[in-house]
Amino acid sequence: MTTPYPNLLKPLDLGFTELKNRVLMGSMHTGLEDRFWNIHKLSRYFAERAEGGVGLMVTGGFSPNFVGQLSPLASTMNNRATAFLHRQVTGAVHEAGGKICMQLLHAGRYGYQPFIVSASATKAPISPFKARALSTKGVDKQIDDFVSAAKLAKFAGYDGVEVMGSEGYFINQFLCERTNKRTDKWGGPFENRMQLPIEIVSRMREAVGPEFIIIYRLSMLDLVEGGQTWDQVVMLGKAIEKAGATIINTGIGWHEARVPTIVTSVPRGGFADVTAKFYGEVDIPVCTTNRINTPEKGEDILAAGKADMVSMARPLLADSEFVRKAEQNRSDEINTCIACNQACLDHVFKAKRASCLVNPRACHETELLLTVAPVQKRVAVVGAGPAGLAAATTAAKRGHHVSLFEADGDIGGQFNYAKRIPGKEEFYETLRYYRRQIEILDIDLRLNTRVDIDTLSIEGFDEVVIATGVKPRTPQIDGIDHPKVLGYLDVLRNNVEVGQSVAVIGAGGIGFDVSEFLTHDAGRHPEGEQISVEHWQQEWGVNSEFEGPGGLAERLPMSSPRKIYLMQRKTSKVGGGLGKTSGWVHRNSLKHRDVEMFGGCSYDRIDDEGLHITVTSKDGESKEKRVLAVDHVVLCAGQESFRELHDQLAQAGIQSHLIGGADLAEELDAKRAIRQGTEVAAAL
Ligand code: FAD
Ligand code: NAP
Ligand code: SF4
Repeated sequence: MTTPYPNLLKPLDLGFTELKNRVLMGSMHTGLEDRFWNIHKLSRYFAERAEGGVGLMVTGGFSPNFVGQLSPLASTMNNRATAFLHRQVTGAVHEAGGKICMQLLHAGRYGYQPFIVSASATKAPISPFKARALSTKGVDKQIDDFVSAAKLAKFAGYDGVEVMGSEGYFINQFLCERTNKRTDKWGGPFENRMQLPIEIVSRMREAVGPEFIIIYRLSMLDLVEGGQTWDQVVMLGKAIEKAGATIINTGIGWHEARVPTIVTSVPRGGFADVTAKFYGEVDIPVCTTNRINTPEKGEDILAAGKADMVSMARPLLADSEFVRKAEQNRSDEINTCIACNQACLDHVFKAKRASCLVNPRACHETELLLTVAPVQKRVAVVGAGPAGLAAATTAAKRGHHVSLFEADGDIGGQFNYAKRIPGKEEFYETLRYYRRQIEILDIDLRLNTRVDIDTLSIEGFDEVVIATGVKPRTPQIDGIDHPKVLGYLDVLRNNVEVGQSVAVIGAGGIGFDVSEFLTHDAGRHPEGEQISVEHWQQEWGVNSEFEGPGGLAERLPMSSPRKIYLMQRKTSKVGGGLGKTSGWVHRNSLKHRDVEMFGGCSYDRIDDEGLHITVTSKDGESKEKRVLAVDHVVLCAGQESFRELHDQLAQAGIQSHLIGGADLAEELDAKRAIRQGTEVAAAL
């Protein structure tokens, strides 16, 4: 069969072994690594992805010792008993025809525990603990531990290891003046600072022999002040090759960097040119990474000669069959990662097991089983928002006959508004995925059909699932009926022309998104298309040649076509409830466009003058009255469940399953909606 992805699917010869294609599943901490009793879940998680055809996988990070742990008792590879346990993982992967490397990650000052060590006694902005500076002997001990961890990984049956040299962890902390103030042989000029990774890789190679993969994750762009220069990156990359690495993988940005590197607003393949600039400096294979989430993007990058391999981590969480579908020319069936971080990274940073917003089975492979239904039933799903789509497709996959009713002319529910927000274009992909699934699974989709109790009674379904979603909340404010007042649906659905100055009431996810929408010129780039990498680099201050320490540049000021005020009643940080790993990006983006954000706001009235408010100071000591002379007030004050149909059915004694926003509007997001839809349908 001819393939549209000849470069992506081409085998890669590593000399002593061959990878069946150029897709590397990059390292992701899932939370399953940390406890030995989860090893069978971890094995199944990797085995499903190996069955899905990926060329090589890398585990989440395992510390080579106790002081390098990410958090107390977090994943560590420092004894034979643990290594022996991992034979379950490697056995399952090999049986499924896959290959897997263990990532060795020493957190250094990024550890969230009191025993952390680093090059110097410094405190990272993202850890509450200050690291202890290692003695010269102490550094030798860390190298020994890296080497023995690699030997243990080999004993456990891994095909290799990845040495984590980027993202601001321990090794990176030795490389940069920013964190390395040492005066011994491990400090001073770059030639000294770079000895740590060289020593680790060369001694590791000696210990594990020639037929064991050593991937080195090279920090190609630190994106922090005092980071490495391009010349230093190249010098280190060449030395690492000489030390015995098999593959060089790309690392982008320290965790403390104030430039986003993987959130959804980063354009696809936004850092591939960094790898492209490095490519050719070494003879071993080079892998690129960050925001590559479709086979098309991977193919384009490889076809353009920017790298030998493409690393995709979250896209393999979202769809374990990513590669298989690409191989079989079924890429329109891929459940694409939308880079929201909501169920993966945000969970990990809260010490919760990772999963995936669009695929709740991720990391729950042994628990959320989608078995063939013992009895085929006629199932009605009312509402084709994320909850209804997940329920309908899951039920149909299990063999039920599903009718999916949607009042609107298209599927998607609120995702149809989310997809319009600049930087959230990936949401189109989820709708494309479900559209295709509806076709394949032969679901009886009835658009423009507002279901009432009669529709359901006449057709006599065996099971009814109500996924009718939410309706916006209208807060009680004097003057709420004034013509200046709009709802977020007026802006995002009805395309009402919005004036030059706007007050947005409610600073939750939707308030932020509406503000983002209003601060962009509608005509700047076509809706649904991501901004160009060049534009994005200018906006976030990335040097287009990746030169200078850390590859940073002056940020280009961004103008907004209108003045925006974004408000909440709480006195806590505005946007404090947004995602842990993405909230700062949203706040920063709006601040950069001069959006005025404040809390402690009470809304007194709305009249021809504008919005009258009283603002209480953070300490609660003072109050200030203000009039915001705005053209429009946009309400983003949360939502309420829309469940009349369910209540009518209940009154008539007809049982139904209530899911998504219709079930509970509070703290609703698509992650919960899709998970609940899937779980309910898995049990039908
Ligand atoms: P809905 O999406 O509201 O879908 C309900 C569907 O039911 C609608 O299509 C409606 O027309 C239909 N319906 C109602 N009554 C009937 C009837 N009687 N007959 C037939 N059909 C009916 N969530 C996130 O997790 N991450 C985000 O980044 C994110 N961004 C967002 C951005 C915006 C601008 C908005 C508005 C929302 C965003 N959300 C986000 C929220 C997310 O979209 C919702 O949580 C999710 O859509 C809720 O899913 P649902 O299926 O329960 O309801
Ligand atoms: P939300 O996050 O609950 O925010 C509602 C906002 O309205 C809050 O700022 C709240 O703050 C304010 N509010 C509540 N009741 C009010 C009232 N009676 N009068 C005035 N203000 C009131 O809900 P949302 O913004 O509608 O978003 C819905 C869901 O979609 C969220 O749960 C979110 O997870 C999801 N979403 C996520 C993203 C994302 O990027 N991850 C983006 C969009 C949406 P005060 O009470 O302090 O005023
Ligand atoms: Fe991708 Fe979001 Fe799933 Fe994470 S939760 S894998 S970012 S779609």
